[in-house]
Amino acid sequence: MKKRFEAHPLELGGDDPAGLGQVKTDLGGGVERPSDSHHLRKTVSGSFEEGHDSMLGNRFERSSAAWDHVMMSSHSVVVIGAGFAGLNAVKTLHKTDVDITIVDRRNFHLFQPLLYQVATAGLNPSDIAYPIRSIFRGQANVKRVLLAEVVGLDLDTRSVTLDDGSTLSYDSLIIATGATHSYFGNDDWEEHAPGLKTIEDALDIRGRVLARFEEAERTPGDADRLLTFVVVGAGPTGVELAGALVEIAVHALASDFDAIDPSAARVVLVEGGEVVLPAYPNRLSESARSQLEALGVEVRTKALVKNIDDTGVDLASGERIEAGTVLWAAGVKASPVAALVEAPKDRAGRVVVEPDLSVPDHPEVLVIGDLASIPGVPGVAPAAMQQGRHAGRQIIDRLAGRPGEPFRYKDKGSLATIGRARAVAHIGSARFSGLPAWAAWLGIHIFYLIGFRNRLLVLISWAWNYLTFRRGARIITDTRRTR
Ligand SMILES: Cc1cc2nc3c(=O)[nH]c(=O)nc-3n(C[C@H](O)[C@H](O)[C@H](O)COP(=O)(O)OP(=O)(O)OC[C@H]3O[C@@H](n4cnc5c(N)ncnc54)[C@H](O)[C@@H]3O)c2cc1C
Repeated sequence: MKKRFEAHPLELGGDDPAGLGQVKTDLGGGVERPSDSHHLRKTVSGSFEEGHDSMLGNRFERSSAAWDHVMMSSHSVVVIGAGFAGLNAVKTLHKTDVDITIVDRRNFHLFQPLLYQVATAGLNPSDIAYPIRSIFRGQANVKRVLLAEVVGLDLDTRSVTLDDGSTLSYDSLIIATGATHSYFGNDDWEEHAPGLKTIEDALDIRGRVLARFEEAERTPGDADRLLTFVVVGAGPTGVELAGALVEIAVHALASDFDAIDPSAARVVLVEGGEVVLPAYPNRLSESARSQLEALGVEVRTKALVKNIDDTGVDLASGERIEAGTVLWAAGVKASPVAALVEAPKDRAGRVVVEPDLSVPDHPEVLVIGDLASIPGVPGVAPAAMQQGRHAGRQIIDRLAGRPGEPFRYKDKGSLATIGRARAVAHIGSARFSGLPAWAAWLGIHIFYLIGFRNRLLVLISWAWNYLTFRRGARIITDTRRTR
């Protein structure tokens, strides 16, 4: 059955303890699809075969006549989303004889872990984004990169509908459209407290933050409220934002205004749970809290948000924090594409996948990255990259007649930065904080950035910011924000 977008029906969820008329233009691989027997099928009426080769985990049986057909024709793979997961799936398929079509609603891959740097004027948007076409320029089997939004999926007829009404057909489909913010049912808060997920979000936040200093300069009598910044949610993004906001106020802007003292700005980090960075070992959570406080951030844990409006935040305790800017870093839910996949969903609306990352009863459809719900696997970039590589290998193995394998996540550790020379790291059995953790964070983020130019520019920008205490990207592009 074909599904199209309607009002977003996703449930609340996420990782936040804060509690809180189709035109049939076939753009597809042009491959005529054999009958349904062409599909890989799971044995024993839909359950996975448990055979002698249990070391390999779940196995698939191949319908050989159908697959012979596929091997003779070119196998078309459609990949929706060129984030960390989709990108790694396509790269893994680079030496295979398949025709790949990539669809993304943006023409660039975005390095989300550094978005907060754009939001806080440390980096420019082009430093952390890279054109998808350029990434795959040298990969011959990437036949098309389409700038389009996916608005419909029909897993039975194997068709993907784009926002211009055209459709793509596929033999294998990889869905990797990631996640978005969750306001836990309070969607009206979004207007007052933007979240950070896209370049547009980052530029919006940058504009709001810088504009508050300008407004305070014009109306110094209201500076206390205007220069109070509340960040809701003390996960890695909230912690990064809070630390960077203090740096802007105390260092970057300190001597640039006449009527106000930017360093008197107040940054409040509000968290519904008991600790900051709840996913980290206790010792690192505590270290993160003391590093934030040493920087000048007011940390409020066990503080549930009851309401957010244009001039501040109400806490469940009855306290009101008057603020010029409120930022949302509290909740995550699946991208709306998940609602188009007929499969069980978890509380955050993510697709509950089979152990091999396929959709139940559709072994030719793999859901990966932040869109997939896999027990014990966090929504972080390394997990998305590993799932991308696994999805690519699943397609290669099945085309070669080899059995499918379950996905196994290798946790390589986690790092969160708090500010200049401040961070926490949990790598293997090592737990460390402060300057060494920050150096590790810096090196890893530069290493994983795509494009030599980006790596060089980010390195130069950071070195410059570090030595001069300046933030060069202090541009307000939306002048409505200055009121
Ligand atoms: C601010 C922030 C900071 C983060 N920091 C870290 C960190 O420090 N370390 C870490 O490991 N992880 C971090 N993460 C998490 C990490 O970025 C994600 O886990 C990772 O990006 C997930 O990869 P993905 O490929 O599943 O989704 P994404 O990277 O989100 O990619 C999804 C892609 O799908 C496209 N898309 C979405 N909907 C459609 C549609 N309908 N049609 C077509 N295309 C569509 C999008 O344009 C996008 O290119 C951070 C995330 C954010 C938002």
